[in-house]
Amino acid sequence: MNTLLQTEFGFQEIEIKKLNGYDNANYLVKTENNKYIFKTYKYADDLLDLVKAENETLLFLQKSDTNKYPKPIPFTNGLYIKTLTVNGEKRICRMLTFLEGEFLENVKPTNELFQSFGVFLAETDLNLQNFKNYTLNARQWEWDLQYLDLNKKYINDIPNVKDRNTVNYFFQQFEENVRPIIPQLRKQIIHNDANEWNVLTKNGAVSGIIDFGDLAHSFLINELAIAITYACFNTKDPLKWASIIIKSYHSKLPIRENEIKVLYYLIATRLSISVCNSAHSRKTNPKNTYASVSEKSAWKMLYHWLSINPIHAENTFRAAIGLTIEEPQSIEYITKKRHQHISPILSLSYNKPIYMVRSAFQYMYDAYGNTFLDAYNNIPHVGHSHPKVVEAGQQQMAKLNTNTRYLYDQLSEYAEKLLKKFPDRLSKVYFVNSGSAASDLAIRIAKIHTGYEKLMVMEHGYHGHTQTATDISDYKFNNPKGQGQKDYILKTQIPDTYRGKYTANDENPGKKYAQEAIEQIQNSDLPIAAFISEPIVGCAGQVPLADGYLKEIYPAIRKQGGVCISDEVQTGFGRLGDYFWGFEAHDVIPDMVIIGKPMANGHPMGAVICTSEIAESFSKGVEFFSSFGGNPVSCAIATSVLDVIDDERLQENAKKVGNYYKSLFLELQKKYNCIGDVRGSGLFLGIEIIQENSIKPNIELARHIKNKLRNENILISTDGPFDSVLKTKPPLCFTKENAKKVVDRIEEVLKIYYREV
Ligand code: PMP
Repeated sequence: MNTLLQTEFGFQEIEIKKLNGYDNANYLVKTENNKYIFKTYKYADDLLDLVKAENETLLFLQKSDTNKYPKPIPFTNGLYIKTLTVNGEKRICRMLTFLEGEFLENVKPTNELFQSFGVFLAETDLNLQNFKNYTLNARQWEWDLQYLDLNKKYINDIPNVKDRNTVNYFFQQFEENVRPIIPQLRKQIIHNDANEWNVLTKNGAVSGIIDFGDLAHSFLINELAIAITYACFNTKDPLKWASIIIKSYHSKLPIRENEIKVLYYLIATRLSISVCNSAHSRKTNPKNTYASVSEKSAWKMLYHWLSINPIHAENTFRAAIGLTIEEPQSIEYITKKRHQHISPILSLSYNKPIYMVRSAFQYMYDAYGNTFLDAYNNIPHVGHSHPKVVEAGQQQMAKLNTNTRYLYDQLSEYAEKLLKKFPDRLSKVYFVNSGSAASDLAIRIAKIHTGYEKLMVMEHGYHGHTQTATDISDYKFNNPKGQGQKDYILKTQIPDTYRGKYTANDENPGKKYAQEAIEQIQNSDLPIAAFISEPIVGCAGQVPLADGYLKEIYPAIRKQGGVCISDEVQTGFGRLGDYFWGFEAHDVIPDMVIIGKPMANGHPMGAVICTSEIAESFSKGVEFFSSFGGNPVSCAIATSVLDVIDDERLQENAKKVGNYYKSLFLELQKKYNCIGDVRGSGLFLGIEIIQENSIKPNIELARHIKNKLRNENILISTDGPFDSVLKTKPPLCFTKENAKKVVDRIEEVLKIYYREV
């Protein structure tokens, strides 16, 4: 190497040190007076063109500034690039000056540093503004944000499926939020990789930038997006630091509004590209640690980014450059507008309602820039806006949507997949569009099958809003404003071991409750067609049926010719952690099951599942047809939900996080007497709030906690006959950190409450 450099560059007295590089071999060359970087690349035609383009860029930049960028040094023959044989291999070679300075990574972030960074980048982009190079214009590759698509092939190299889906989410957001604006975005040649190991500083200010190997003719705003991504790694408040860079960049090179609009998404795009490529290179070359230097930080920031409402990010960026911030309509206005045509009988949650506009996994974003941690909504079971679910819907909607009077694959494929989750004897399914439609249909089928009319229902039970569903829902018909109990309804008490007649202190309370219910069955004037109950009664305040109860009741119902229906609308699909369906916890197999809510993650879908014997009876009657039930789009979406539950092992997560969550509440219960009971399982919990020294419900405190948490951007609810039970049933992607946050905040609320009261 020494002789080579002496002959090719005329250097004397040289010292050479080999450096680490992404995919090339570089050498630090010291002569008596100067330092250089000798870069060599394995020969390839395309690469030669690129290296030429890079050198042309560096030479062009020398016209504006000679100290900030590496300067190409000619070979003795005057050329800047030569193909030489190094260690027996044909390599592209060139020499650059070495820039002194401390890497951005190694200096403490300060306002001044970040300000200088913004100015530096703007000046570099201004210097490059009139530079043209057709090799760079034609370059299409993974690290250019506009070609994000090229990274799709690497997503599967990310080992963890949840991580993969987080990246998928941001890929989708690019399509939704960036793609339509692309034609309006300014393009020019940019450095395209102002990362913490390429940016140099001196005396607390950015002084230079190296490694022009990522040059791209791309959106100008990408320069900033990339710089912000790396500069904000590991910072607690990335938006604050981003704002400093944006403001100072803008002072030299004004940023346009449409560029600000896409910045949040482009930062996420860069993070996504980074983690995709790290995963890919680790897979193809596990020994190359350089390729994944920033992987951990990128993941951390990507997850942090999810918790930032994109509107908040945009508003912060707008404020940094003095753009006006669009004020959304007030809550009062939006509420008034809703009530023009929507009856107030549709209630709104919380004293101060929330005006939602977007969502992602366990987060919901409102119009004012707030991010809410969703500890309440069980319908977006696998996570809000889950990319696999969105994709399934989008693709099928663009292909075919029709009804069950035609043959199509999605219906039988989904039915097969769904029924695999049930015991063998539950082998037939009818698809409808809601839990209410499912309970309505289930009752109709039960009546036809048994020939009976009478129904046994549970105290506080809720099964839907149709007339039949209301008739079987004590929660509705027994409301002071309700329609009252119909004469064909037999109501039985809820086997509640906290508030009920038999408690955990009694021996075998489940059996005792069952015995009383069986007496009712035996004393009934007419035979009972069906008994319907939820395994954990949601509207009762998440009350699990006492152990052993169903095991006694089911045979008694069957004995007199009736069928047993389990309403799994709330409890199904793995939410309970230990079991995929709630009835499994009671060691029984129902004759019919109704499902809904989480089934298609918010897309309206419900179903009745029953034995073939029951289905046969129903088939003897008039045709069953539901215009939308089981349509290909619904089936495709529901299939994706089952896939995600399995892929992301969400039932296991519900168990792991749910147990932890419950343990935190039990700890809190030891500190606060107002917590009377902590119950439920997996991510389906109820916390009974009571008055001191009694089990009287503390309605006011329960509501207070709910509304305080809402003001802290955490969503939970209250329920139960007195509305005194805190109810939490988050999307199954909920994490332990999320759980801790909720319980910590409840503790804070209680601390303040007891100081105040
Ligand atoms: N059953 C149960 C247990 C429910 O919680 C609900 C809805 N809250 C329903 C049935 C009715 O479902 P939908 O609102 O989809 O009609």
